[in-house]
Amino acid sequence: MDQIKIGRFIAARRKEQKLTQLQLAEKLGITDRAVSKWETGKSLPDASIMLELCGLLRITVNDLLSGEAVSMENYNEKTEKNLIEMARQKELADKRLLQIEVFICIISSVFLLAMLLLAVYINIPDWLRFVLIGTGFVQFVPAMLLALRIEQVAGYYKCAKCGHKYIPTYLSVNKAMHFGRKRYMKCPECGRKSWQSKVISKSE
Ligand SMILES: [Zn+2]
Repeated sequence: MDQIKIGRFIAARRKEQKLTQLQLAEKLGITDRAVSKWETGKSLPDASIMLELCGLLRITVNDLLSGEAVSMENYNEKTEKNLIEMARQKELADKRLLQIEVFICIISSVFLLAMLLLAVYINIPDWLRFVLIGTGFVQFVPAMLLALRIEQVAGYYKCAKCGHKYIPTYLSVNKAMHFGRKRYMKCPECGRKSWQSKVISKSE
């Protein structure tokens, strides 16, 4: 998707509707800085307000993502291209999230280990040992819950029995036995349990 082209298109349609950036922003309940960022191609409108924005600009979501009014004859082709591009961007974002998860796990584990080693091997009063151990776990638990949350929402789990790909609930991810990112879970499609691996794309 060409953000610059989309930005120019938004600006042009906004002016056609005789709206200032501020007026458009107010109708959408956002800041005029956000509108300015779209129009200069620095960001894309959030999916959550895309429909409302398109309504105000009197265009379709397809027009918006194409950065131009799409004619009826190549409408389907443009729709397909936009859908593929959005899927690709989601895959990239998911990959980045999973890298962040690894980073969180490493930093948090190293910190916990350091606190435990200090508490055990350094000659300090007992209360200070407890403080060190406590500090280690107090940062470790939320870090692991956050990592788990990332693992739940980024990409999909793939059933080893039927190949079905889905996003499991937080609870089922949380309580599942796991080995690295592989989790032993029940497939919502075929109902069988298997070691399911993480995949980024629906077509993997
Ligand atoms: Zn299955």
